[in-house]
Amino acid sequence: MTKQGLLIVLSGPSGVGKGTVKSALVKQRAFSFEYSVSMTTRKPRPGEVDGKDYFFVSESRFQEAIKNDELLEYNQYVGNHYGTPLAPVKKMLSEGKDVFLEIDVNGARQVRKLMPDGVFIFLTPPDLHELKDRIVNRGTDSEQVIAMRMQQARKEILMMEDYDYAVVNDTVANAVDHIKSIVEAEHVRVPRVINEYRNMVKED
Ligand code: 5GP
Repeated sequence: MTKQGLLIVLSGPSGVGKGTVKSALVKQRAFSFEYSVSMTTRKPRPGEVDGKDYFFVSESRFQEAIKNDELLEYNQYVGNHYGTPLAPVKKMLSEGKDVFLEIDVNGARQVRKLMPDGVFIFLTPPDLHELKDRIVNRGTDSEQVIAMRMQQARKEILMMEDYDYAVVNDTVANAVDHIKSIVEAEHVRVPRVINEYRNMVKED
């Protein structure tokens, strides 16, 4: 029987730079994994490719996916829906491939309930000033919206207690290195490998 792949969930407060770290992991092929492409009702940004960055769908298609239990988890964020298609995740894991999800904290909480064997990594800002700078530098938010996002981020940072690891996103290169080390270590945790050794000693 093929050994199940590892489910790796990267999450963290909004504005922390999950998307940038994800892109760096994908681009550098930092370790061997399949990226789970999410479904969203958000419109594509310039340069985003349907089926690669997201599956861009209508609200009615998204609602149909919820109704048919096609999603492992889903959430609404700034007026749009985002969700993880379940079938490809299951298939890749059963083929022994590691699957990487980059999702928000609410989605991660749903996944933890359904797939507690996953590795849950929380990306944190080095400090709140840095986070505010990142949110301000994104551009379009008013003072009031920035204050709301910061309030939300304070709450979300405390959600780290539901996770296995906290990785500081001080530089993308450091965050990528830490995530790589975590994945390597998780692969050799005794509960994940013990069955292979049980089989090995049985054969002798
Ligand atoms: P963006 O619109 O900037 O690509 O993503 C907005 C937020 O949605 C980010 O916090 C991102 O992590 C989150 N997100 C992306 N895909 C999913 C998903 O499949 N499920 C959930 N719950 N959140 C997602």
